[in-house]
Amino acid sequence: MYKYIKDQLEDVKLRISQVAKRVGRDESEVKLIAVSKTFPVEAIVEAYNAGQRIFGENKVQELVHKVPQLPDDIQWHHIGHLQGNKAAPAVELATVIEAIDSVKLLNRVNRLASERDVVQKVLLEINISGEESKFGEGESASFDFASLALELPNIKLEGLMTMAPFGVDECELRKVFSGLRELRNTIEKRFDAKLPELSMGMSSDYEIAIEEGSTMVRIGTAIFGKRD
Ligand SMILES: *Cc1c(COP(=O)(O)O)cnc(C)c1O
Repeated sequence: MYKYIKDQLEDVKLRISQVAKRVGRDESEVKLIAVSKTFPVEAIVEAYNAGQRIFGENKVQELVHKVPQLPDDIQWHHIGHLQGNKAAPAVELATVIEAIDSVKLLNRVNRLASERDVVQKVLLEINISGEESKFGEGESASFDFASLALELPNIKLEGLMTMAPFGVDECELRKVFSGLRELRNTIEKRFDAKLPELSMGMSSDYEIAIEEGSTMVRIGTAIFGKRD
């Protein structure tokens, strides 16, 4: 039933390497996060058998359900808004929590990681477009946010992530993606820190995101097909 996934995955990987080449980047700089949310374990197995090892889920319940059924060399990224009361299983199961969108959540994840005696890799979600419907700190608050993330002992800040607004043109998308890149560069300088990861780009806009410096593309539909 899920045989098509291998072809779609290969197509996405090919396009990633083509865009990377076109803009003079090494394709190994761009990690593909296969967003398997709403798809069953059998679909994930198809992608796994085709070589995919990083998967993204946006619901803790799905992580809890899927992770024990799948090989343990998979790296799981928690990608969407994470409710504070669901943070404990996310810290237990996710290699990277990509969408830390408030100081409160950041502190909670640090505390949970400290209780487990681990260092949790995270990205801070930044609301570059300033849309009110989106989660994430605005650009102006992001310096304090990053400064705290760099100080907390059980947090490893790997970079920034953003969700582009829906239905905007290419010019607007580029502004959002380059805005996240510039902000990352500014934070690195200001705090003398390394934030290598920029998680930006989904099925409809990942090629533009890679042109603008993305190091993690989160792709669901283009690999697994439409969600119900
Ligand atoms: C669902 C989701 C994606 C993938 O979206 P597609 O358009 O299916 O590629 C990426 N990022 C986040 C945070 C998501 O929730």
